Order: sequence, then C-alpha cells, then structure tokens
Amino acid sequence: MEVTVLGFWGGFPHKNEGTTSYLVESDGFTLLLDAGSSTLIQLEKIIDPLKLDAVILTHYHHDHIADLGVLQYLRQLKPASPVPELSIYGHSEDKFHFESLTMPTISKGIAYDPKEILEIGPFQITFIKTVHPVICYAMRIVEKETGTVFVFTADTGYFEELEIFCEGADLLITDTYFLEGMENHHAHLTSKETGLLAKKAGVKKLVLSHLRQDIDLELLKKQTEDYHQQSIETYLAKTQLKLTV
Ligand SMILES: [Zn+2]
Ligand SMILES: [Zn+2]
Repeated sequence: MEVTVLGFWGGFPHKNEGTTSYLVESDGFTLLLDAGSSTLIQLEKIIDPLKLDAVILTHYHHDHIADLGVLQYLRQLKPASPVPELSIYGHSEDKFHFESLTMPTISKGIAYDPKEILEIGPFQITFIKTVHPVICYAMRIVEKETGTVFVFTADTGYFEELEIFCEGADLLITDTYFLEGMENHHAHLTSKETGLLAKKAGVKKLVLSHLRQDIDLELLKKQTEDYHQQSIETYLAKTQLKLTV
C-alpha cells in the first residue's frame, strides 16, 4: 500500500501547502482519506480526480473537509461523459454534515458503523472514537492481501486505548500539534505523547502530521524521537511525501 501526504497543516493552510488529506493506494484502487484545503491541487499531480474510487472522512472540521465541495463540483462539471457516483464514507452522528456528502448522481454519502469492520476495495477498516471537541474517528486500515497496517490517529488528544489500536502498525500518521508540555490536551497530541504511543504500540514508521504553523518542527521531531528511543523511522509530514508499506 502507498500513502501520499496531500496536506498536513493543522487548522489552516500555510505557505502554499494545505490541511489534512492523504491518498491511500493499493492494487490500482485509490482512497482519499480526509479532504482538507489544497487536496484537489495535490491530487491532480498524482491521479485524475475523476478516477478516484472512494473518500473516507474522520470528522467534519473544516480543515478535513474544505475541498470536498469542490471535488463534487469537479465531478459534476468536468466530465465530457458521466462518471460513476463517488462513494463518500463518513459518520452519521452529525446529520447536517453527513447529508452534505450526497449530491444526486455525483456523490453518495455512506455512513460507516464505527463498531463494525468496513470493507472498501482492497482495504478493511476499523475505527475508534478519539478525544476531540467533535465526534471523530481514528482509522486502522489493513490491506487485505498483504495484512499491511496503516493507522491514522485523525485528530485526538491522548487516550490509553489508542496504544492497542495502533499496535504493530507498519505506518502510523499522527496529529502531533504540540511540543512537549501540553500533554492531556482535549483535542491534539504532543511530541512526548506521540513518541510514547509509537514506542508502546511498536509501530515501524511514524509520520508527524496536523502540524502547527508557529512552532519549531525540527524540535517537535527531536522530542518525539527522544521519547520513542527506538529505531522507528520518523518523518515530519510534507506535501507529496509518499510512504510505501
Ligand atoms: Zn484538524
Ligand atoms: Zn478536528
């Protein structure tokens, strides 16, 4: 499976780069994970957005869905001949936003049940509710054919169950918004919490994402590495960073 960062800033875009969005690919299948600002511009560099197979959303904060409406418009206005209706998976615990996923003949909102395993193309996905001001789900995405595991924490403060949820992940992408000192925040992780999480879960590759615009990011990375003290390959998220796992 390949995971490409399309946007990584927390809250708002910065210096020509966008907010949370990742392209997850396996065996020719393309899944967009969140759709923050600049998603379309970055996605077009990799695939024709008309060929996108499905979208899945962690929650409905604007920095995760900013480009969803324009993706719908692109699929409505651009094709010379109609393209298949796009499946957009989201939780249905926010009726207003969930209903906006459906645009007749263009896209169809599909509610995932966070207690069940969801199958989308080559992936099997499980969920855990995170610590965040609105309902949000972390996702564990397993490539069925290989058993490779990619976990995305989505937006979250620290909670213990996350350690088991992330266990043995080949790739973990986190919401590491704060430097050490802001632990037990109600919405986001710190470098220390991320380092400890990666260590306890025994992950193989770690990407720090949902980054804050006004902090020293090299220090964020160093603090994280100091806490996992292991040979976990650790990266700061960057637009078009592609991880193969
Ligand atoms: Zn966010
Ligand atoms: Zn959020």
